[in-house]
Amino acid sequence: MKCRVCAGNAVISEPRLCREHLTSHVQKEVRRIIRWVKPEKLLVAVSGGKDSAALAHALAETGVQFEMLYIDLGIDGYSSPSKEAAARLAKRLGGRLHTVRPPTPVPELKQRKEPVCSLCGTVKRYVMNRFAFENGFDYVATGHNMDDVAAITAIGIASGNAFNFKLSPVSWPRKEHRMAGRIKPLYRISEKEILAYALVHGLPVHHAECPLSENNTQLAAKQLLSGLPGFKRGLYRLAAKMGREGKRELFECRECSYPTTASSRICKFCRLSRER
Ligand code: SF4
Ligand code: ZN
Ligand code: ZN
Repeated sequence: MKCRVCAGNAVISEPRLCREHLTSHVQKEVRRIIRWVKPEKLLVAVSGGKDSAALAHALAETGVQFEMLYIDLGIDGYSSPSKEAAARLAKRLGGRLHTVRPPTPVPELKQRKEPVCSLCGTVKRYVMNRFAFENGFDYVATGHNMDDVAAITAIGIASGNAFNFKLSPVSWPRKEHRMAGRIKPLYRISEKEILAYALVHGLPVHHAECPLSENNTQLAAKQLLSGLPGFKRGLYRLAAKMGREGKRELFECRECSYPTTASSRICKFCRLSRER
């Protein structure tokens, strides 16, 4: 199989690219988003997985300055090897790694009414934003890829509120609401491309699946879409056209002062911490 650009040996079939051209394809996309938002102080959320590892590596290779945040979710047999992979990545890139352990370990959230992955998402978003805001980072970068975007769009359409999902590659900071900006530099890169990128660069990655992922809707949607590549591309294009996030009214949480859409003025993170 030949690279479509230079006819060298391709390391991926879709698109057919060699190591060098896959690398420049991914890094060009990362550079595009960075030039667009021009972050002053960037925080990269690393999970120990391939997406955030590829993102951090591409940013470092592009000469972007950043620090990393690992959120220790306290999941037995999963969090600790993920944390080790994140630490190895930080060492390799020579970057600073912060670790935050939320007060309620994610496995304890399993007892609540809502699916654990949805609550885990709330915890991760809250911790990321609060850490970034309190430490002067104007943007947080996450490793969301094209397949994530297609899956989130599919779930949004199925649940009838596609416009409420965070689909945009860029959310601008809203200081008045104590919100750091958020960017998804790998938004236009597929999961296969990211996996190939992580492999050819030998990035330290923990490949195992989270043991709590059994009812993860996003994962299920991704698996379904992997057999429907045309449909997946269509969903991605739809997400790109919709482009902007639906803006809902924000209130200040009475307990922590961070933003919430809840009319009770108590954010979901504070509610979860209360219910312990
Ligand atoms: Fe959290 Fe669910 Fe992902 Fe596990 S699979 S890390 S519980 S969102
Ligand atoms: Zn090539
Ligand atoms: Zn709160």
